[in-house]
Order: sequence, then structure tokens, then C-alpha cells
Amino acid sequence: MLSISPIPAFNDNYIWLLDNGSEAVVVDPGDAAPVQQVLAERGLTLAGILITHHHFDHVGGLPALLAGRDIPVWGPRNPTVEQITRRLGAGDEITVLGAPFRVLEVPGHTLDHIAYFHDGEATGQPVLFCGDTLFAGGCGRLFEGTPEMMHASLQRLASLPAATLVYCAHEYTLANLAFARAVEPDNQALLERQQAAEASREAGVPTVPSELRTELSTNPFMRCESAGLQESLRRQGRLEETAPAAVFATVRAWKDNF
Ligand SMILES: [Zn+2]
Repeated sequence: MLSISPIPAFNDNYIWLLDNGSEAVVVDPGDAAPVQQVLAERGLTLAGILITHHHFDHVGGLPALLAGRDIPVWGPRNPTVEQITRRLGAGDEITVLGAPFRVLEVPGHTLDHIAYFHDGEATGQPVLFCGDTLFAGGCGRLFEGTPEMMHASLQRLASLPAATLVYCAHEYTLANLAFARAVEPDNQALLERQQAAEASREAGVPTVPSELRTELSTNPFMRCESAGLQESLRRQGRLEETAPAAVFATVRAWKDNF
């Protein structure tokens, strides 16, 4: 079996580490030092690296981690990240520490953004590494893509099994849930999630991963088709159109100024 653990980096990044007890793979190593430290402490050999998109806080650790190591670096077809050795697109299947992962293209935050899905055979529960696309309670900013593009990407993720554990790359949950509460003040599941997340952070525990089913019931960016969310926007004078992609654009623009 594979286990997955967070390596905190910078202010609020999580570099995810998969390991089988002897070999490890990391996802989006923006910084090499905390990764090297965990590998040394736990006696793990780095066997590969997964990249979701080109931002520096996801790839900055590559040169130092690859020094003296000849290991695969899986990532998007973006030539600006020179260290990627296996360039991937939608539908590609890769084997990571013996476990199959499927690649999804999820443009929006950046145009090159991809995500990695495993069905749970090697982890006990399905897992998704989605970088800065879907966050716990929120979604990434649109630096390169359009609202329509990001909405379609999130719909692609919404179609995965509801039990999927969502491993995003930042601890943004409390801020995301505060915004979600403004969007849907009457959503009881959201209120309970916010209280649980506050308790976790007070205890110093990550709020990530979350289950996809939780995102579907509480994350406004995954709920653009919800009658309850649309009614809440209407009451606040914020509903312009009811097409889900247009609702997404409205909510994303509100969050950008929240
Ligand atoms: Zn990013």
C-alpha cells in the first residue's frame, strides 16, 4: 500500500509525498529543502516527481532535487519547465510506485494545468492531486484561462467518484470557507465544515485532503448548478445569468474582490 503525507513549504503550500516505505514520489516540489529533510528523516529514496503546472511554488525545487538523481519527472506539455521528462495530456496513464494514475487536463488557473487521479487500489480510497485547480472550499485564481475553461475543468473533477480524496496544493481552506459562507449563508453542511476546519487549524492539523463529496456539497465553485446557491445569489442581487458557467464567472469575480 502507498501512504500520502504533506510536506509543508513556504507559507501555505503542501508538497504531497507518496511512499511505499522505501521509495517516494513528491507532487509539486516548489522547494527542495523540506523534501530533502523528510526523505533523510524517513530513509526514503526519491523515485520520481509529479508536476501539475508551471508556477514557481510548484516547480522551484526541481533543479536541487534532480542534482545527482536520474528519476522521471512527469508533467504537462509546457516546454518552459525544462526538467519534465515525461510530458502528459488528457487520458494518459502512468505508473507511480506501481500504482496507475490517469491524467486529466484542467486548464483555467494556468493553461498547462493537469491533475492526477488514482482509483484507490493502492491507497485504499481514490485520490486526486489537483494542484491549484480545485481547493478545499474554493478554486484557483484564473491567471491564464477563462471562466468557461475553469468551470469545465471543475466539472471534469466533479465526475470523479464522490469518495475521492482531493489533495490540493495550498492551505487556503479557512479563507475559502469564509467566502463560501457569504455566498451560501443558509448551507448547513457548509457551516459544519467551517467549524470543523477552524478546529483543525487551531489544533495545527491540515484541512487537506477533503473528500470530493464534501466539495460538491459546500464548495461554491462546484455548486454553480445548485438551485440553493443560485437562489442565494439572487437574494443578494448577484445573479445575472443562470447558465452554470456564467454563475461560476460571477462567483469567481466576487471572490477576487472579497
Ligand atoms: Zn499556481
